Amino acid sequence: MSFDQLDAELSARKEQSLYRVRRMLESPQGPEVRVDGKPYLAFCSNDYLGLANHPEVIRALQQGADEYGVGGGASHLVNGHSMAHHALEEALAEFTGRPRALLFSTGYMANIGAVNGLLDKRDAVFQDRINHASLLDAGLLSGARFQRYLHNDAESLAQKLSRSEARRKLVVTDGVFSMDGDIADLPALCTQARAENAWVMVDDAHGFGCLGENGGGCVEHFGLGQNDVQVLVGTLGKAFGTAGAFVAGSEALIETLVQHARTYIYTTSMPPAVAVATMTSLKILQEETWRREKLAALIQQFRSGCEQLGLELMDSPTPIQPIMVGDSAEALRMSAAIEAEGIFISAIRPPTVPQGGARLRVTFTATHTEAQVTRLLDVLEKVSR
Ligand SMILES: *Cc1c(COP(=O)(O)O)cnc(C)c1O
Repeated sequence: MSFDQLDAELSARKEQSLYRVRRMLESPQGPEVRVDGKPYLAFCSNDYLGLANHPEVIRALQQGADEYGVGGGASHLVNGHSMAHHALEEALAEFTGRPRALLFSTGYMANIGAVNGLLDKRDAVFQDRINHASLLDAGLLSGARFQRYLHNDAESLAQKLSRSEARRKLVVTDGVFSMDGDIADLPALCTQARAENAWVMVDDAHGFGCLGENGGGCVEHFGLGQNDVQVLVGTLGKAFGTAGAFVAGSEALIETLVQHARTYIYTTSMPPAVAVATMTSLKILQEETWRREKLAALIQQFRSGCEQLGLELMDSPTPIQPIMVGDSAEALRMSAAIEAEGIFISAIRPPTVPQGGARLRVTFTATHTEAQVTRLLDVLEKVSR
């Protein structure tokens, strides 16, 4: 172990155009931001509905802090489970149409907790090849037999399921794939799972708020209930605009997680004021359907504009609209050129995406304007020439 070893590794990463740096955001999240002292038009946040800086959500956070203070102060099983947390759990259960919901401090922790609360080395977990890192980590940590099926391929899943004789079989998938923007083929995946007596866990971090008439995500989009998707995960840091996450499901599932999910048990509850703020954002998310309609219009404008420019998009109907580039250095060059024009888009490179799969991950929010999308298309035309 030496500092020289670390330095050598860091240098190699730079040479491969894989080095990551943090940029400093100097404003609230929104279509227009300040980063490292300069104003930009941004197309890279996951604040899909524009609620992260919504005045009513801010006011709710302030009121929550007045009522409950700042810190949760203890874990849920000691005395950190406040009325605010409980009320949000009940509201999320109703929203998802499940008997119960359980709050976690982050989506990462919800995924680790849910998989590890259910599975051990007697079991098997089946994951889409491009699932989010937190799901892959959750499966590996559980000690269950870990298998990856081809992306969104129910046949590939069926083959693997049929060969397994594990005690419990859990199929795990993103609802909306976070780097590609496509929607999981849940009807087909659930059919295969049911045939093999497996459960399905969907992490719909990017679907809630964006898909479904009421923002209920991909399960609402496909009309699937608890007998199809037994473990439903949502995160609150994306379309909800706040922070934290939840798992929704049956009474037995939630009680099992309360007893066994270590990332639920051994951590401080989220600040109760965040739960209060999320009650307000949940209400806006459900009621203000214009936000989803606006997103759909922006997505359509962007996709037809890119088609005219001959840019390669992915098969995505969601606010995640990656432009495929392939080479990491080229993706960095393009994002720097776009940035020089005053637009902020992040270049996503391996290992977040497969080798040769570098891309510009463009995301939209309901608070973007048509004129801002036009400006983006003009800049893309310029830098891709
Ligand atoms: C962002 C994300 C998470 C992690 O959620 P956090 O609350 O940010 O920890 C989990 N799963 C998916 C698919 C995500 O995109």
